[in-house]
Amino acid sequence: MDEYISKIRSGDLKLYALEKSLPADDAVSLRRKYIEEETGTDLSAVGTYTIPIDRVVTRNIENMIGCVQIPLGVAGPLAVKGEYANGSFWLPLATTEGALVASINRGCSAITKAGGTEVRILRDGMTRAPIFAAKSVAHAAEVARWAEDNLLLLKVAAEETTNHGELIGLTTYTAGTSVFIRFEFDTKDAMGMNMATIASEAAAHLIEEETKAKLIAVSGNMCCDKKPSAINIIEGRGKTVSAGVFLSDELVSTVFKTNSATLAEVNTRKNLTGSARAASLGFNAQAANVIAAMFIACGQDPAHVVEGSNTITTVDLVEGGIYVSVTLPSLQVGTVGGGTSIATQNACLSMLGVAGGAENPGDNAKAFAEIVASGVLAGELSLLGALGAQHLGKAHKELGRGEK
Ligand code: NAP
Repeated sequence: MDEYISKIRSGDLKLYALEKSLPADDAVSLRRKYIEEETGTDLSAVGTYTIPIDRVVTRNIENMIGCVQIPLGVAGPLAVKGEYANGSFWLPLATTEGALVASINRGCSAITKAGGTEVRILRDGMTRAPIFAAKSVAHAAEVARWAEDNLLLLKVAAEETTNHGELIGLTTYTAGTSVFIRFEFDTKDAMGMNMATIASEAAAHLIEEETKAKLIAVSGNMCCDKKPSAINIIEGRGKTVSAGVFLSDELVSTVFKTNSATLAEVNTRKNLTGSARAASLGFNAQAANVIAAMFIACGQDPAHVVEGSNTITTVDLVEGGIYVSVTLPSLQVGTVGGGTSIATQNACLSMLGVAGGAENPGDNAKAFAEIVASGVLAGELSLLGALGAQHLGKAHKELGRGEK
């Protein structure tokens, strides 16, 4: 080991290339030792892990030195009545935020007592938007028109790069001489960002050839990946999902120790008026909390929590109770690819019965999206209930948490 470390120090061996000469576990432990020496830190805590890493070091991470462990809890059972997920589910939640699992659990209990969430996927399409430079505004308009008129040609070029992905549409936007083509793909069970990027590159080269506009970048930020944006709320990105449940007045009072009118008022004044006053792009109480915990547990790209955070929560006062809903305009999920095949993350997807590719490609990712949206509804209900009953501070104090 010392001999390798001397070679790294002398520059004869690259730290990032250790896997070329050593088995993955040895490379990781050598790199960790080197970093321990460089930083004077004991890193033995990150050196203990159970996941097989042969594939991880080639697909999921570079310069690996170990694993950070995040506690995993469950909330449930949660009854879900979707078109793809139908049944009772235990939600895997990876978090260090005390009170979160307890909160979601209480929401699951209320929803399950009420008969389960109705959940529907309203739209499904992963986007990537290359940016082109045109010579003039007239040329920019021509480029946009050419792309709109030639979807079939672009579809052929894009789909040559993938067995599962399908180019299902495009929208064009211009700003002066900049032209953005927002491609939209059905990526089946994959979250699809790599797939859509590779396919978009192929289609973008065709546009460049045919229109002589210059391809500046395969992503021009109108996608809009991992940034808060109005376009994803309005047009959708990934899956647009709505989940709703009717709760009787009696159930609201038994589970949440408050009443329907209070829950509705808290929602209107906090989630709608408060969010509008803050010019927030999210009209919800804690959607990102549930999405982050489920994404980390299930091998999703956690950076997409930013897009899930634009959830809109509504509470309608109806006869005999309330109808509570969440709408997630841009939820990016997959059950193949990315971090989904890492052993611990795969186990969490398996708990939900959605690991891997579905017999009918796309059905597992859709089922997973319906379950995540139902979990978000549970989290919203619970936090609205705690706020309505003025219990939030007390619950956090009891569960050892700070302020939200
Ligand atoms: P991926 O791991 O790159 O690819 C998924 C693969 O699964 C595809 O190659 C597809 O093959 C295959 N596949 C097998 N069965 C499938 C099924 N039933 N449905 C769909 N595909 C199936 O995953 P990805 O979802 O495209 O990308 C996710 C990764 O992208 C994450 O790690 C994320 O962090 C990262 N990411 C990338 C970018 C970027 O700009 N590149 C941006 C954000 C995030 P075929 O394509 O041959 O069908």
